[in-house]
Amino acid sequence: MKKKTLFIIVKSKAAATFLEAFFRTSGIYRPVFCSTPPSPCAPLEKERGASALIAEISLLPLISLTDHTIPCIALIGGDKKKGIETAVAYSVDGYITRPFVKEDLDFMLSTVIRDHEMIRIQKKEIRDLRTLHEFAQLISSTLDPKQILFMIVKRISDLMPVTRCSIIQVDWLHKFAYVVASFETPNVSMIKLSLKKYPEIVEALFRKKPVVVSDINTNPIMKSVRNIISPLGIRSILVMPIIFEKKVIGTLFLRTSRKQHTFKKDEVRLLQGIAEVSANTLYNAFRFAQVEDERTRLEKLAITDYLTGIYNVRYFQHRIIEEFTRAERYKLPICCLMLDIDRFKKINDSYGHKTGDLVLKEFAQQLRQLSRKSDVLARYGGEEFIIMLPQTTIAGAVAEAERIRNAIASHAFKGLESGMRLTVSIGISSYPNARIKTYDELISAADDSLYEAKKSGRDRVVVFT
Ligand code: GH3
Ligand code: MG
Ligand code: MG
Repeated sequence: MKKKTLFIIVKSKAAATFLEAFFRTSGIYRPVFCSTPPSPCAPLEKERGASALIAEISLLPLISLTDHTIPCIALIGGDKKKGIETAVAYSVDGYITRPFVKEDLDFMLSTVIRDHEMIRIQKKEIRDLRTLHEFAQLISSTLDPKQILFMIVKRISDLMPVTRCSIIQVDWLHKFAYVVASFETPNVSMIKLSLKKYPEIVEALFRKKPVVVSDINTNPIMKSVRNIISPLGIRSILVMPIIFEKKVIGTLFLRTSRKQHTFKKDEVRLLQGIAEVSANTLYNAFRFAQVEDERTRLEKLAITDYLTGIYNVRYFQHRIIEEFTRAERYKLPICCLMLDIDRFKKINDSYGHKTGDLVLKEFAQQLRQLSRKSDVLARYGGEEFIIMLPQTTIAGAVAEAERIRNAIASHAFKGLESGMRLTVSIGISSYPNARIKTYDELISAADDSLYEAKKSGRDRVVVFT
């Protein structure tokens, strides 16, 4: 067992030779003699010892014991009555009087150290309970699940010196895991985690108990991923399962990168308390996040073309109404490009419909890369595509169309023979234009121009005039 440091505060070492003899062979204490002023208690402040022994009662006024970080015992040598009065006045934890007997001192030391430790633990427990109480109040103070999730990681990061702190949600089969909140990135929403890369989380899910990895470099749990996370500077990890109705619904996931820090027992206990008081709230927040995620997925599905992944006509329609209205009101130019792959039927006929599909997908990808962020690109139907260019003049639209036409003509599509190239015909309409009054007319004007492009030989751009 590690010896406990015992500060012995003396006027002069010579005056305390008997004390030296007391502790010379002690297996419990490591005596550290400190002399009288200027600063008799300097080591007290620097090092948290187990106890302090005041060898002479007259030294008490010189030593600040007010914070009582360690228990103190006074030796009363002279006037017993006065000595005890002084000891009481300075709130020492214990005293012994002459004749000084080693056994008395040992007994007194072990008693005050034990009591002091008990009080320390109880104080800490009271503090933790208070923290948990505040925590429970905090998370019930809002109804917004996203905000609750972030509050929890934020509060934990305030309480403990962690580099990263996240909440992981898992399904009951532990087939998937999502980061639903993370202190480092406040706006995360459902980032999928591959559990293969997190053996410590798997361990916690399996054991339904907290997992503490004090040092990722030596803990066998981390063996398979050590090479990956070691360079990230992560040093120790704490995974706390969140259990609701006997099922693990997720974990708190804390990591630190500090060399000396590892998660201590009392930190683990506090975190366990946090996991317990927030389990119910987390369960609800997780369910909400899932519903929300599903809704976003459905919303996205509703505006996406199933084959190419770009927008569908429905969404395009909605956007062009918006943009055309804005163009009308603020007298802004707006253009529309209608694109149709030339002789696409031949691709289907010679390579099959499946390859045709792949080519369409790749064509859409090309358009996505070739158009600007502010453009709205959609599949209009079959092998026809449409692009709306808000706040763009006809010159800009022609430039973009030519850029697309050239890029497609030189692109080698994956499913096709190596020398094989596709071409595209493009019709352009632009607003303001004397013959265009509505967004519908803008679209059909682009369509008319496309028809002209086809009629006049394909692989070309025609502008509606
Ligand atoms: P043009 O140069 O006049 O446009 O000739 P084209 O062959 O491209 O025109 P046409 O309208 O005659 O044929 C379009 C072809 O596109 C016919 C249809 O089978 C094919 N097509 C439409 N939608 C899809 C699709 O989703 N997948 C596949 N593989 N083919 C499609
Ligand atoms: Mg075609
Ligand atoms: Mg067509």
